[in-house]
Amino acid sequence: MASTLEKLLTPLCGGPPEPPRNKVTVVGVGQVGMACAVSILLRELADELALVDVMEDKLKGEMMDLQHGSLFLKTPKIVADKDYSVTANSRIVVVTAGVRQQEGESRLNLVQRNVNIFKHIIPQITRYSPECIIIVVSNPVDVLTYVTWKLSGLPKHRVFGSGTNLDSARFRFLMAEQLGVHSSSFNGWILGEHGDTSVPVWSGTNVAGVNLQAFNPNIGADGDEENWKETHKMVVDSAYQVIKLKGYTNWAIGLSVADLTESIVRNMNRIHPVSTMVQGMYGIPEHVYLSLPCVLNGGGVASVVNVTLTDQEVAQLRASGATLGNIQKNLQDI
Ligand code: NAD
Repeated sequence: MASTLEKLLTPLCGGPPEPPRNKVTVVGVGQVGMACAVSILLRELADELALVDVMEDKLKGEMMDLQHGSLFLKTPKIVADKDYSVTANSRIVVVTAGVRQQEGESRLNLVQRNVNIFKHIIPQITRYSPECIIIVVSNPVDVLTYVTWKLSGLPKHRVFGSGTNLDSARFRFLMAEQLGVHSSSFNGWILGEHGDTSVPVWSGTNVAGVNLQAFNPNIGADGDEENWKETHKMVVDSAYQVIKLKGYTNWAIGLSVADLTESIVRNMNRIHPVSTMVQGMYGIPEHVYLSLPCVLNGGGVASVVNVTLTDQEVAQLRASGATLGNIQKNLQDI
């Protein structure tokens, strides 16, 4: 006897189901991973979302909870498993797995602990999605992006880190608040290393194309009477402050990763400060990842903007490069 389904639908095409075109995988369903997943879902960027974690109950619970919201979403398929076959044919893989900073712990202190986790994760990702673009979020993000690039064997334009995208968003929020405009109307870039030694490019700060340095030549410098430098310090302290208050940071990073995802999925050629391979740029000899303004499109990092930096800013980038290079030298089995 024909089933209800057979009675309801007359098939016209007997072939296999259509493969996903914009499948996004999020590895790690902790605070950051779920904020990324929800932000990507709400912005309607994926036709399939896959989640992976080692904690099976938590993973299944998160998957079911999202699936129960299907009525309110435009992503028809949400899957999860600890086996990476669930990630097959991903266009984008966001890696948020790993341990996070404890109160007062620096991002660099996490390094070898998270490298060991990545040695398990990255080969599985490329095995099932050899054409994917990997966005690394786990900290220390610049080092782990380098580690991902090495472990994956992918070309450098298909591996990048969220880098100073979040630092720049914090900077734009804090500066814009003081200037009484919306974050999107204050333009300013934080480049270099994500975190403690990030570099604010004060020479490029502007509102509506009007350069703030024209009004205050010392803006951001030590001798600045208005002490704008303090705003960059607030950016650096932001993560520590939020972690102290709520135990982790997640919403802003989740929203910012969805923004990066959108530039890829919609092939937008938008420019974001993300962590890319900078060897040979600004006289940096080491194979390290640092954030520069990158043009993101459907192929990944299409190009890097050659920002005009002061000698001091270049020196700061080189110092970060040297620090990261030294850390990378001591990593085991990369
Ligand atoms: P969390 O502890 O809430 O979640 C981490 C998840 O990773 C857990 O669910 C854990 O089970 C999972 N995990 C551990 N080992 C795994 C493995 N081998 N395979 C798959 N999953 C595994 O931590 P969180 O708050 O979500 O933070 C995650 C990472 O993101 C941390 O490294 C944190 O420092 C980083 N982070 C980065 C930024 C940024 O701007 N780049 C911002 C915030 C947090």
